[in-house]
Amino acid sequence: IETKLPKVGTTIFSVMSQLAVQHQAVNLGQGFPDFEPPPELRDALTRAMNAGKNQYAPMHGTAGLREQIALKTERLYGRKLDVDTDITVTSGATEAIFAAIAATVRAGEEVIVFDPAYDCYEPAIELQGARAVHIPLTVPAFAIDWQRVRDAVTPKTRMILINTPHNPSGAVLSAADLDELAAIVRDTGIVVLSDEVYEHIVYDGAHESVLRHPELAERSIVVSSFGKTYHCTGWKVGYAVAPAALSAEFRKVHQYLTFCTFHPAQVAFAEFMASTPQHYLELPAFYRAKRDRFRALLAPSRFKLLDVPGGYFQLVDYSAIRDEDDLAFSRWLVEQGGVATIPLTPFCERPPGTRLLRLCFAKSDATMEAAAERLCRL
Ligand code: PMP
Ligand code: GLN
Repeated sequence: IETKLPKVGTTIFSVMSQLAVQHQAVNLGQGFPDFEPPPELRDALTRAMNAGKNQYAPMHGTAGLREQIALKTERLYGRKLDVDTDITVTSGATEAIFAAIAATVRAGEEVIVFDPAYDCYEPAIELQGARAVHIPLTVPAFAIDWQRVRDAVTPKTRMILINTPHNPSGAVLSAADLDELAAIVRDTGIVVLSDEVYEHIVYDGAHESVLRHPELAERSIVVSSFGKTYHCTGWKVGYAVAPAALSAEFRKVHQYLTFCTFHPAQVAFAEFMASTPQHYLELPAFYRAKRDRFRALLAPSRFKLLDVPGGYFQLVDYSAIRDEDDLAFSRWLVEQGGVATIPLTPFCERPPGTRLLRLCFAKSDATMEAAAERLCRL
């Protein structure tokens, strides 16, 4: 058959998870916690199923969950949302990202993305007949060079896609970055898609959500994921926030892509968010402890550890161990070193030329210790 996505193979997350099983490696590759969601949340899910919440949810999400998302958004980012028009619950952030791109980007248009870019962005852009314009982030800070963005904007630019905290580096955008972005998109038709799935995992200072920036928020679709916040990536529930007119377009796609999202989980999240709002406030301390523990365990190794301002990934420089590209080194490491990681090359238009790997530290102490023991032998 004539393929629509000739450059796309199997995502590196599946490839690495499979290799981890095959080689009995400690899996620090695909980003998921190896511990359970809070027991109260699991109980709430069971209760929702036993209370008969097993049929289609309302198309845009349950009113209770949208209410909780609105409360949180106002509390954290000072933005008042219309519960009926501005929030759509989706089947993970992945669905929200696809729907946002499909709803706004037309054939022949351009979307600016920053490399390394999370791997679901480009295929979604290409399926619209549009083109991803890749701008590399600076290394090692993984910051945006705004002059390069200004130079890349053309009359065809329809969207700028940002991700803060950034996967894989954990870099966070500042208020000044958002001001730069606002100046670039002002008086244009450019839509901002802001992937903020790690919004609650920022270690120093507050997360600068686009929702905190009134001018940007007016032209943005902001995406988040309950999987990251509540340690349940397998439940696949996320959401998109956008002003009414943009949300209306977003929902045209959402209603035919999935129609609605797993109903019992929405009931459970609404209940848990109402009863335990401190969960997400405590998340930075929770993951800071893991980050610091992991870094201490790796300190005696020959890996150089980059700073981690947010998220739950540690980038390490392996150049003292082997002189080869990250695809080769990550392959060697899972097969010979017994640890699965994620290389950065699959997230870049051109090989980044760095000697960096991504390690997930959303893991129990035992997993981190087992991995560190192997990594410190190299
Ligand atoms: N964006 C980023 C940056 C991610 O890291 C992830 C998943 N880890 C997603 C989107 C997708 O989130 P979900 O699992 O809710 O679809
Ligand atoms: N977002 C997760 C990560 O970055 C992976 C999700 C997936 O496997 N699609 O590791």
